[in-house]
Amino acid sequence: MLSRNIETFLGCDADYQAAATVLYGAPFDSTTSFRPGARFGSRAMRQESYGLETYSPYQGRDLTDYAVFDSGDLELPFGDTEAALAQIRERAATILKDGKRPFLLGGEHLVTLGAVQAVVKVYPDLHILHFDAHADLRDDYLGAKLSHASVIRRCAELLGDYRVSQFGIRSGDKAEFHWGENHVHTRLFDFTGLSHTLDIFADKPVYLTVDLDVLDPAYFPGTGTPEAGGVTFLELLDAIFLVLSQTNVVACDLVELAPTLDPTGVSTATACKLLREMLIALG
Ligand code: MN
Ligand code: MN
Repeated sequence: MLSRNIETFLGCDADYQAAATVLYGAPFDSTTSFRPGARFGSRAMRQESYGLETYSPYQGRDLTDYAVFDSGDLELPFGDTEAALAQIRERAATILKDGKRPFLLGGEHLVTLGAVQAVVKVYPDLHILHFDAHADLRDDYLGAKLSHASVIRRCAELLGDYRVSQFGIRSGDKAEFHWGENHVHTRLFDFTGLSHTLDIFADKPVYLTVDLDVLDPAYFPGTGTPEAGGVTFLELLDAIFLVLSQTNVVACDLVELAPTLDPTGVSTATACKLLREMLIALG
């Protein structure tokens, strides 16, 4: 019997009932401050994932040995940020209610807020690990409280002081860093100190949010706000493996791939490879 052509991320064609991790895409970039295009990130990852093998030589394991369900992209209303966040929140809540781990594909970074709003209701002691070039701690961006430049501040306000630890940060305004000193843990430039943070987070439920612009633009130019001086692919991969092996990651995301900004396709291929590795490591 033939079946319909329904595109999922590579190897993520398990039954929903069997799946421990569920992908959901948020094609949203309405608050992007510089170069838009992240709305195409999740779809590009599905299409380009077929250039990858399902087998990981890094982990000696195969993605097809794990049950992952890809629930596709949400249909989000552009121009209505609150409504878009509500849809993301509802999808995450549904996945959590069914006892599964929600894995969000952006989209710009603001989409993380919708997911975190749902996850903290189930895990009130939630802690966030945030990998990014940008602090994302502005109180507002041009008056907008809901912005990808404010997303981690909104999350930190929701969770409470010092529940967020951020790594790789190399950009932000003076006021953001000042606010951060009294509310979050900020590590500049790379993953120095990550092991120490993971010791503290070891018995906590963790949300891992990976803004792909933490990578150096030499590796990852396909993003809205590139920042020179970032980490390498292997440094990010090692950091992610450390997090996923030593903490209880109850939900996570990969955001800020803007595929059309890198016509070589390397950025999309890089994002796909990171997703494959994260799904295997979570499995
Ligand atoms: Mn960000
Ligand atoms: Mn960023």
